[in-house]
Amino acid sequence: MQVFVAPDTMRMWSLGERSKGHRVGVVPTMGALHEGHLALVDEARRRSDRVIVTIFVNPLQFNQSADFASYPQPIDDDLVACERAGVDAVYAPTASVMYPPGFQTHVEPGDLASRLEGPKRPGHFRGVATVVTKLLGATAPDLAVFGQKDFQQLVIIRRMVADLDLGIEICGVPIVRDADGLAKSSRNVLLTPADRAAAPVLSRALAACAAACQRGERSADSINRIATSLIEAEPRATLEYVDVVDTTTLRAVDRVEPGTAVLIAAWFGGVRLIDNLVLDGD
Ligand code: AMP
Repeated sequence: MQVFVAPDTMRMWSLGERSKGHRVGVVPTMGALHEGHLALVDEARRRSDRVIVTIFVNPLQFNQSADFASYPQPIDDDLVACERAGVDAVYAPTASVMYPPGFQTHVEPGDLASRLEGPKRPGHFRGVATVVTKLLGATAPDLAVFGQKDFQQLVIIRRMVADLDLGIEICGVPIVRDADGLAKSSRNVLLTPADRAAAPVLSRALAACAAACQRGERSADSINRIATSLIEAEPRATLEYVDVVDTTTLRAVDRVEPGTAVLIAAWFGGVRLIDNLVLDGD
C-alpha cells in the first residue's frame, strides 16, 4: 500500500493507474476508521480496480474548535485498517500541505447548505465542499464513495460535482450501525457509557417513523412528532432538530412520498450525533 502526503505525487500515481486502464475509486474520510468507512472501501473495491482512502481531519469544516481538538486521530491504526481492507493507496496530507500560507479559494455550496445542518454549523459545508474539491483534484478518481450517514453532505457533493462539471461518479452507501442501532461514527468513542447507552434512541425514533409510515401515516407533522417525542423523552438527549424533507431539495415536506427522509441531530453530553432514514411512502 502506498502512502502519499503531497497532492502532486498522489495525482501522478492515480493518473498512472488510469493510464494503464484501471478504474480508480476514492473514499474521503477524516480517519478514526470504523466499519462504516470500511463499507465504503468495499463499495469502492466493487466498483473500481484501485482504491484510494484519504485521511484528513479538515479544520475548515469544524465550526467549534473543541470538536476539532477532541477529534480522534489514530493514524497508525487507520493505516493498518486500510492495508487489511486491501486499499491500494492512502492520501494523508497535513494541514499545511492543504492550506499553505496564501490559501484563499473556497467552494461555496448553495441553497442545499442553508438547511438542516447548515444554520447549526456555520461554514461547515463550505469547508466540506472546499476540501472535497481539493481531495478530488489530488486523487483524480473515476469514482468517489460517500456514506448516507452524512445525508446532506452527500446531496451537496452530488450537486457540486454536477455544477462544477467535475466528471466524477458519486456513489452513496447505506448507514452501517452497531447491533443496538446506533449509527457508527468516529465520535461515538467520545460518548460516556451512560450517553452511549442512551444514544440508540435516535435509531429507535427513526424506526418508529418507518413503522408509522408502513401503517399508512403520511403526515410529515405526525412523523416528526413521533420522532421528537421519543427523543425528548430521553433525559440524556438534547434534540437539535427533526426534519422531514425531500431527499433531492432537502426542503421540508407536508406529506411523506417516495423519496422523503427523516433527518435528526441531537447532543449527548458534549457529543453531537446525526442520523437519518429514507421512508418508502408510496
Ligand atoms: P468521516 O470520516 O466521518 O468524515 O466520514 C467519511 C465518510 O464515511 C463519509 O462519507 C461518511 O458519510 C461515511 N460514514 C461515516 N460513518 C458511516 C456509517 N456509519 N455508515 C456509512 N457511512 C459512514
